[in-house]
Amino acid sequence: MTRPFNFSAGPAVLPEEVLSQAAAEMLDWQGSGMGVMEMSHRGKEFISIYEQTQSDLRELLAVPPEFSILFMQGGAIAENAILPLNLSRGQQTDYVVTGNWSERSQKEARKYCSVSIAASNVESNYTSLPKPASWQLSESAQYVHACSNETVHGVEMHTLPDLKSLGSKVPLVLDISSHMASRSIDWTRVDMAYGGAQKNVGPAGLTIVFIRNELLGHALPHCPSAFDYKIVADSESMYNTPPTWAIYVAGLTFKWLKKQGGIAAIEQRNISKAALLYDFIDASSLYQSRVEKDCRSRMNIPFFMRDEKLDAAFLSGAKAAGLLQLKGYKTMGGMRASLYNAMPVAGVQALIDYMRDFEKNQA
Ligand code: PLP
Repeated sequence: MTRPFNFSAGPAVLPEEVLSQAAAEMLDWQGSGMGVMEMSHRGKEFISIYEQTQSDLRELLAVPPEFSILFMQGGAIAENAILPLNLSRGQQTDYVVTGNWSERSQKEARKYCSVSIAASNVESNYTSLPKPASWQLSESAQYVHACSNETVHGVEMHTLPDLKSLGSKVPLVLDISSHMASRSIDWTRVDMAYGGAQKNVGPAGLTIVFIRNELLGHALPHCPSAFDYKIVADSESMYNTPPTWAIYVAGLTFKWLKKQGGIAAIEQRNISKAALLYDFIDASSLYQSRVEKDCRSRMNIPFFMRDEKLDAAFLSGAKAAGLLQLKGYKTMGGMRASLYNAMPVAGVQALIDYMRDFEKNQA
């Protein structure tokens, strides 16, 4: 069966091999007589899946031993509250606002601590990134939060901020939801990172948190136990029942990633895929990317047409051509193509061919 190409921003396309294996093992996982959804999370079968998934993720992203990897629930939106409940100590925190998602993060954090906006690109309509050297960091901040890939606005930090070299000791916390596992992470610059799985990793329902161990153990007294990072870390993410099915599918994705050559190989492929589409958009007189070139996301590419009245025809023609879920985010309009790890080069090429034909037909 040939499937259409799916450009959804999330939940998003997964590798066919992953879906096929999950389907093949649905009724009977490796001769156990049980599907993964039916297994106790404390049984030896699921524990083996959990341990392999953890260690493959640690290996793929080269996560150092001084970090814990937590498998949680609630998505990145829940993390917007869980983070200040764990790390703010009810005191001052800094937030960098670079688009829809970091704006929502800072708003939620205000329920739990005082928030200062260290930098913002709102004046550029979220189309550029404030340079880390210009961030106004408070020495007393418990952490500084940023979103390293803004899924809605299509703005990505290609180099992670090196705050230590700028003289700051404030821990850096990143929302990496929409580019997790698409590229390498320099852990010397990061103290915590989190993201929902439903873009590059697996089904919705799993949130992955990477946290430096020294940050554990400072939750506010009213932090729910199931969301206390130390309790979650100490109980190997099994304080409550973890999202077992999502962890299993994430594990299949990590095996697939290793077969692709690991993160370095997938990162190169992602760079080439994004360049194909941006180069085409920049050369066209119908389509436009509004994001500055040095911070264009490789994962989420919003684009607009000269005349927005053409959007509906573009989208319905795209669907008929087997190119799905290209509609832009509700507050943005236009189109958005998400090119996650599982999007093959052939999918990007098919999109460009369709865009070229559509443009010709407008002439
Ligand atoms: N942060 C980013 C960067 C996202 O892309 C998303 C979802 O698209 C979220 C936060 C919200 O994630 P969730 O709906 O899993 O809570």
